Amino acid sequence: MNLSEIGTVDKGLSLQQQFHLDLTKRARGGIVIFLALWLLTALWVNIIEDHPYIFYLNTLLLVIAALLRIVHYHFIIKTESYNTTRNYFCLVGLILFNAVHWGVMSSWVIYGSDYSALQTPYMIILSALAIGGTSVLSISRIVSILYPILVFVPGLIVGTIIEGTDNLILIILASIAVIYVLEAARTSRADYWQAVYSRKESDDRALLLEKSSITEPLTSLYNRMYFNRCYASEWQHCIELQQPLSVIMIDLDHFKKVNDTYGHFAGDKCLKRVAQVLKQELKRSTDMIARYGGEEFIVLLPAIPLKTAITIADDLVQAVSEISFNWSGEIIEVTCSAGVASTQPDATTNNQTFLMAADDAMYKAKASGRNQYSVAPPLK
Ligand code: GH3
Ligand code: MG
Ligand code: MG
Repeated sequence: MNLSEIGTVDKGLSLQQQFHLDLTKRARGGIVIFLALWLLTALWVNIIEDHPYIFYLNTLLLVIAALLRIVHYHFIIKTESYNTTRNYFCLVGLILFNAVHWGVMSSWVIYGSDYSALQTPYMIILSALAIGGTSVLSISRIVSILYPILVFVPGLIVGTIIEGTDNLILIILASIAVIYVLEAARTSRADYWQAVYSRKESDDRALLLEKSSITEPLTSLYNRMYFNRCYASEWQHCIELQQPLSVIMIDLDHFKKVNDTYGHFAGDKCLKRVAQVLKQELKRSTDMIARYGGEEFIVLLPAIPLKTAITIADDLVQAVSEISFNWSGEIIEVTCSAGVASTQPDATTNNQTFLMAADDAMYKAKASGRNQYSVAPPLK
């Protein structure tokens, strides 16, 4: 089985959800096939006249099963409730109902003396349903075991009762067929799950790779490369939507001294704490923070005007100044300086000029005594 045979839509589904969705899709054929086969053959030999009650009862049961399966299919697809146990067992129940119903009904047709014309076609249909149905639905263990048994076994039982040992060879052959179908289903189920697991593994690996390519390992914040990508696209976005864009450049104060006094491991811990605190302060999902350099961070605030950006910068500076942690019995504290810039992006402005304005403002905050923010003048 190749991967393209497995569900396609289906990013972000758990394995169980994927399996349920795949089984639902694979079982679609059963919505029409049982009813169509029955109507075709029943009309052909005129069961409707000979046995109207049986004809209507059978047709009614098949129509009800088909309707239930249509409702189940649309419900599953529309509501995306791929993995509730109830929905899964509903589908399994409907599939098995069709199997047992068809098995019993076929026995009646095959062994009832009225319809000898149908004996051979029904044997063929039974085999086709058992083999085809089981292999299509083999991804579910319970279905792949019960389905061929329920389709085949009623005929074997009835055959044994009616024809006794005369039918022995047929019974032996049918039993071999069922065993063979079960074994084929087991192999195909193993292939399906192996393919699902390896796809999940490669999806996980791709996700990890993507994550590690856009974040940096020490603080787990986004890296500068990813910031640049987001910044360029937010700049464009703000031009199109005529929205303001703000950035805050942040640099830790006298951070070299932290390293020199307590060592680089203490410095690393401090950077992690700062990253954590800055991230916690940003409340909107569209706000973004990245590690811009060694002890420099940058905050991107799409659709945020200057006034709000200033409040945020103030909060960030304040939050960093409240950091205090113990390192080998010593209390380490840290402060930062921030530069806030806000503008209405337009196509004629170079977006790097805007970042430089935030950087200049940050140095102004340093020059004014650190542990504070400074605001960039409007871009010309
Ligand atoms: P200022 O207030 O002017 O910014 O002073 P500063 O000491 O913070 O600035 P400076 O640029 O002189 O020093 C930055 C320090 O940040 C030097 C470098 O060792 C440290 N640093 C950069 N990246 C890391 C890191 O990943 N881990 C640790 N522990 N230190 C880092
Ligand atoms: Mg620096
Ligand atoms: Mg610094």
